[in-house]
Amino acid sequence: MNRKHKLRATFADRLMKSVNHRRTALAMSLAAALFLFISVIGAFYDPTSLFLGLLLQLQMIITIYLTLRYYFYGYILAVSLNLIGLAFIVRQYDAGAGYAEFQGLFYVDIMIALSIIALYALRNQKNFKEVLRQKEQVSKAYYQAAVSEEKLYQKNKQLEQSNQIIERDRKQIYELAYIDPLSGLPNRRKFQQFLKTASVNALRDGQPFSLVFMDFDNFKQVNDTMGHHTGDELIRKAAQYLKEWAHPADVLAHIGGDEFTLMILRPLERPAIAAYLGKMTEKLNQPMVLGDKKVVVTACFGVTTFLKDTGSTVDLLKFADTAMYQAKAGGKNRICFFEKSLFNELITDARLEQELRKALINQELFLVFQPQYFVPDGRLRGFETLIRWQSSEFGLVSPARFIPIAEHNGQIVEIGKWIMRETFRTFKLYQDQHLFSGKLAVNVSAVQAMAPDFVTTVRDLLRESGFDPTQLEFEITETAFDARLERVRHVISELRSMGASVALDDFGTGYSSLNYLQKLPFDLVKIDKAFIDKIHTDLKSNQFVSTIISMLHQMNLPVLAEGVETGEQNAFLDLNHCDIIQGYLYGRPMRMKEVDTLLRKGSPETGHQQ
Ligand code: C2E
Ligand code: CA
Ligand code: CA
Repeated sequence: MNRKHKLRATFADRLMKSVNHRRTALAMSLAAALFLFISVIGAFYDPTSLFLGLLLQLQMIITIYLTLRYYFYGYILAVSLNLIGLAFIVRQYDAGAGYAEFQGLFYVDIMIALSIIALYALRNQKNFKEVLRQKEQVSKAYYQAAVSEEKLYQKNKQLEQSNQIIERDRKQIYELAYIDPLSGLPNRRKFQQFLKTASVNALRDGQPFSLVFMDFDNFKQVNDTMGHHTGDELIRKAAQYLKEWAHPADVLAHIGGDEFTLMILRPLERPAIAAYLGKMTEKLNQPMVLGDKKVVVTACFGVTTFLKDTGSTVDLLKFADTAMYQAKAGGKNRICFFEKSLFNELITDARLEQELRKALINQELFLVFQPQYFVPDGRLRGFETLIRWQSSEFGLVSPARFIPIAEHNGQIVEIGKWIMRETFRTFKLYQDQHLFSGKLAVNVSAVQAMAPDFVTTVRDLLRESGFDPTQLEFEITETAFDARLERVRHVISELRSMGASVALDDFGTGYSSLNYLQKLPFDLVKIDKAFIDKIHTDLKSNQFVSTIISMLHQMNLPVLAEGVETGEQNAFLDLNHCDIIQGYLYGRPMRMKEVDTLLRKGSPETGHQQ
């Protein structure tokens, strides 16, 4: 609003301000009354004087002002004053004054004029009030807009702050995800990204690069004897040394535990790489102060070259790792370059053991089930549960390879428990659906069966799953027995007292199978595949199998032949009254889905023809 407008507005405001200025109104009215009085008195003496005319005019102006200024009340006051004046004039008219006629008309004219003015003033006031109201609304809107602007500004500020926090968190998340907190080096995930990029570049440019896998020789020892805190200190310091010595073009990463990787992104030949790593080793070998002790740290390096040894980054790490293990096998502080010929031989028990420890957690173990059939009528008898290990490192590993390792390090107890829980849970579903009323055979390892809480574990797992123990069969190999016959007898009796049956597995492979048969209460004997394989290949085996079957029958023991692969073997076993058959001829170990199909096709009650 400019200055001129403002002035006009305030003047109009003041002029139009209604009522309440009583004092001014009173003064004006008194003045008007006084003029009236003087003019009336004066009229007696000289009714035609100019002075009186002026007074009359003044009175008129004041009454007009009153009307304009105070609207309704001003108008009433002004009209009253003129009426009084008129009353006097009327009296003088009666008294015969000549001028009274003219003056009386004058008063009447004024009152008419006043009425018109008042009418217009009132209308104007209304309009003005409306203008004022609108003005107020506009200023209110202005005010609200200003408030909103302020709020917007505040919001913006908050948003800016949140953005900063988000950015900071993003950085932290990135670091958490890609940087190892202990060493401050890129972690395994970041390393894998680097590796991918490096391989893409290498393929594009035809430039090889090498990957070094590094592992400390005595880290475990430091951790075990000096505590984890010192172990962490070692990693931190070693990372520092390595960072100092790594070429700026290469990428160092800490992929876990005491394992580091170095990507040599320069086309170095083997001797140059050996010299480079040799320097690093020298630096590492300088005594390191850890806590209050000095420790000499040694490490082994495995090296592989992309495009030369392999064209896949998946294999690259495996190859470098393998080379590193080979270096370790040769002693401490060594560097070894990957040779393809060594790869398969290098899957040592130690490496399998290391991976097997993670297998349960990583869900690499699973179960398969091999069907067993009654010989006379071909009915499905049940299934033997067999374990499988799909290792991310080595592929599918045979149980014949890893079970002995698990037995050796005691892990079989845990694995065995997992097997029972899994298989009971699975087959309980079939029991409930009345699809499955056959036997479920579970292999029990020697170490597992001799564990003090084995029987309790079985009992707990059965209770937990609700699996009917009368359908359960344990397969035990005679290697379990070595000189602990009493204990074995006790375990077998306990299992049988639960309602389960117990089979003697791999019969004929041990030294004293017959001896055990007499002393231990088995429900079934499984003749080992080695004898079945020889049926029809040599006469002695034929005789052995038929003799064993009839002998076991005399002992009231049913016989199962395992590993039956051919029709001839099958015919021979049938002829010699073998009771049950299991083998590839009838069915390979299968996954749950196939078991499901098999059970639907031919349940034990309905019979299974094959
Ligand atoms: P086993 O208990 O004697 O199991 C029979 C093995 O013979 C199984 O091998 C089975 O797949 C295989 N087989 C069955 N029929 C035929 C056939 O017609 N031809 C041939 N060539 N093989 C046949 P698998 O599954 O590799 O198991 C090997 C051994 O590993 C088992 O011998 C057993 O001692 C152990 N094992 C397997 N699963 C388990 C388990 O869940 N627990 C324990 N403790 N040991 C297990
Ligand atoms: Ca078995
Ligand atoms: Ca067997």
